[in-house]
Amino acid sequence: MMRCGRFHYHAPRTLRDACAMLQDAGSDGMLLAGGTDLVPNMKRRQQTPKVVISLRHVAGLRDAGPDGNRVRLGAMLTLSDLTAKEEVRARHTALFKAAAQVATPHLRNMGTLGGNLCLDTRCNYYDQNYEWRKAINFCMKKAGEICWVAPSSRRCWAISSTDTAPALIALGAEVALATRDGERTLGVADFCRDDGIQYLTRNPDEILTQVLLPIPAPGESSTYWKLRRRGSFDFPVLSVAAWIRRPPEGRVEAARLVLGSVASRPVIAEAAAGLVGTTLSEDVIEAVAEEASRLAKPLDNTDFSLGWRKKAARYLITGALRELRGDDPQTLGPLARRAAELAPVG
Ligand SMILES: Cc1cc2nc3c(=O)[nH]c(=O)nc-3n(C[C@H](O)[C@H](O)[C@H](O)COP(=O)(O)OP(=O)(O)OC[C@H]3O[C@@H](n4cnc5c(N)ncnc54)[C@H](O)[C@@H]3O)c2cc1C
Ligand code: SF4
Repeated sequence: MMRCGRFHYHAPRTLRDACAMLQDAGSDGMLLAGGTDLVPNMKRRQQTPKVVISLRHVAGLRDAGPDGNRVRLGAMLTLSDLTAKEEVRARHTALFKAAAQVATPHLRNMGTLGGNLCLDTRCNYYDQNYEWRKAINFCMKKAGEICWVAPSSRRCWAISSTDTAPALIALGAEVALATRDGERTLGVADFCRDDGIQYLTRNPDEILTQVLLPIPAPGESSTYWKLRRRGSFDFPVLSVAAWIRRPPEGRVEAARLVLGSVASRPVIAEAAAGLVGTTLSEDVIEAVAEEASRLAKPLDNTDFSLGWRKKAARYLITGALRELRGDDPQTLGPLARRAAELAPVG
């Protein structure tokens, strides 16, 4: 049985105390939310904090509610809390579909929104136990010198595998980060960084406290499509979050497309600009999907073959856009049918 190494455990009750403990711990400290990513990583010695600061009892971090033209979602809301909210399901469909497809019901009951946004990047050479990694002399993400995926590379190419980040970027969300000295907000797109090791722009002493989500204006709609090996539960191998603003029977006024699990951060597809001013005809959708799918340049460090994953990107983007056009999910293939059947599980 794998066990965590020894560590000091703190369970602060206030945000102020949590911030102070995190700052005092310096590079030895890590935050614990639901623990569904961190604890297995600690058992495999991928992450080895000497001080673990739990956010579970910190007051206010599970609050949610309207704030002007935005909704505030506490970082410690579990993914089940989130998907049980009718307004998330009805108005922020991309977020609902992303959260509802994370892992399994048990893991969604533990796993939090904040933990999902801060999820460690993944790679076949890293998501292994200590002995396996030791046998290949580790890699530069933890304890080694070389990248086994691209041996001449100076950077790590581990992949962002969070489901909610692409959805939140497509929805134009921001995060609030707190320290002992105050709070700052920044877009989720700017919170993510294209580096498999330093995959967030979060400073080590910052705690993600809230997600700030714009309340959709009339005509706005969104969706999230996810490719994974097992439909019942699995990390994304590829995902697409799409958002448009289009008055009924009118032309698209604004659009965003974000690809997940294709790089160390979610990737924004500029090709979405090609949707603006159109009625989402089949020709337009196919042209945009073709261009956006070029961003999927998989390396050989995750599931499925490289070439097939690249081809699948076009299929996913096309499907997501057809759904936003209003096509019946039953006509859009198994991924859409499965997503359409998602129900909140508490
Ligand atoms: C079998 C299995 C399947 C999974 N499938 C998926 C999947 O399909 N999609 C997916 O996205 N994830 C998946 N996960 C990963 C994980 O369960 C989820 O991402 C979950 O939402 C993580 O949240 P958590 O609260 O458990 O995070 P934790 O494990 O507690 O923390 C994760 C990381 O975030 C940091 N952190 C947590 N909260 C904060 C905060 N408020 N501020 C700053 N840093 C913070 C922690 O220090 C840690 O580095 C899977 C995990 C398992 C074990
Ligand atoms: S991409 Fe390279 S450095 Fe990063 S985890 Fe994989 S093998 Fe290690």
